[in-house]
Amino acid sequence: MSDSLSKSASSYPRYHQRLEISSKKSHFVSNKERRNRSWPQEKPSVWIDGRRPWDIEDPTNDPSCSYDTAKALLPSSHPVNFFSLTLDDLKSLLQKMGHSSFRAQQLYKWIYDKKIEEPHEMSNLSKEFRQQIPQIFDFKLPQLKYRSKSADGTEKFLFELRDGNTIETALIPADDRLTICLSSEVGCNMACRFCYTGKQKLKRRLTTDEIVGQFYKVEQLIAPRRITNIVFMGMGEPLDNPEAVFKTIEILHSSFGRQFSRKKITVSTCGIVPEMWRVAASHTLLAVSLNGYDNQSRTQIMPINQKYPIEMLLQECKKYVEFTKEKVTFEYVLLKGYTDQLDHAQKLYQLTRSIPCKINIIPFNEHPNSGFERPDESQIAKFQNYLISLGAHVLRRRTMGRDIEAACGQLTSRKPHLQQSPAS
Ligand code: SF4
Repeated sequence: MSDSLSKSASSYPRYHQRLEISSKKSHFVSNKERRNRSWPQEKPSVWIDGRRPWDIEDPTNDPSCSYDTAKALLPSSHPVNFFSLTLDDLKSLLQKMGHSSFRAQQLYKWIYDKKIEEPHEMSNLSKEFRQQIPQIFDFKLPQLKYRSKSADGTEKFLFELRDGNTIETALIPADDRLTICLSSEVGCNMACRFCYTGKQKLKRRLTTDEIVGQFYKVEQLIAPRRITNIVFMGMGEPLDNPEAVFKTIEILHSSFGRQFSRKKITVSTCGIVPEMWRVAASHTLLAVSLNGYDNQSRTQIMPINQKYPIEMLLQECKKYVEFTKEKVTFEYVLLKGYTDQLDHAQKLYQLTRSIPCKINIIPFNEHPNSGFERPDESQIAKFQNYLISLGAHVLRRRTMGRDIEAACGQLTSRKPHLQQSPAS
């Protein structure tokens, strides 16, 4: 391990500064920081220092303003999508329209807590305000097109978005947990070779309401059951769409809304190092798709490693641990002949031993034309046991939903034959 890796996080004042600023004002990103970003963003999506989108003549033309926030907050004759608004956004919008900000808390409770969307049922609101709600907001959600259920209980939902693009969301039951796996993009540009989603080029990033909408719609469909855990491990790279992902987290965590615990939310990344501080700032759990035991093996299957090599990635993980006091989860996919040998396990252990972490080993889930194979059971067990014997904290990810292609790395926006298995 390099010396730089053993530096304490306190020697990274800028990192801590960013986190402190961020926890106070989650949408704030300084101009300097924006300029220093090395990862290109097609549509920079941050707020403008000290100014709200409605202070700008045409916010949707301002490159430093998020499109969905600007559009949502623009005074307009069209209703705005309720699910795109944080509580602060909602308060600001209502205040601007002459309503008390307390109305925002009441609305959040009706929608996220009680799941009531019909204004006439919102009994503690004035009649006049209830009549205005349909002109101010719409409550459109992604449309369910297909729902399938695996023999092991895992469910997969195919949703159509307003522009006709489709995404998938998985729901995984395990013991007393019910975990939703949310998508953040249509397709993905990261091109990890073992991942089916990575074979589809990025079409676009999802907006906040489309991510919140997956959660809300699935909970509607499974009522009275409730989701207990959220993982951002569906289609797309969450840190390639950070504004929408972290706004979603803020919305679902809100104490007047769904009150989802941050410690039950995991953000997974393939290693977009400049954006990883946001996971620490949001006090959610971090999972890193490691999948290689050195730079060469990782670059072979994850092109992102050329831009942000393992040393940079692990250094950022270390900062996350020191700031949050949480362990990092390293995901490690077992590919027959590529990453499943005992000397690979040895190198993986050496690489991660100085970071408080657990290693999740994931036997590869096959998909068409992947070019990889799943190791046999005895090799998987040998690999796991060897890592354990070295002292690593290792878990084997249970393969769920393989028969319906809902397992890790198998999600896609491919439309099945709708006539054969309609949505229900
Ligand atoms: S593993 Fe994640 S980051 Fe990599 S291609 Fe698949 S969806 Fe994208």
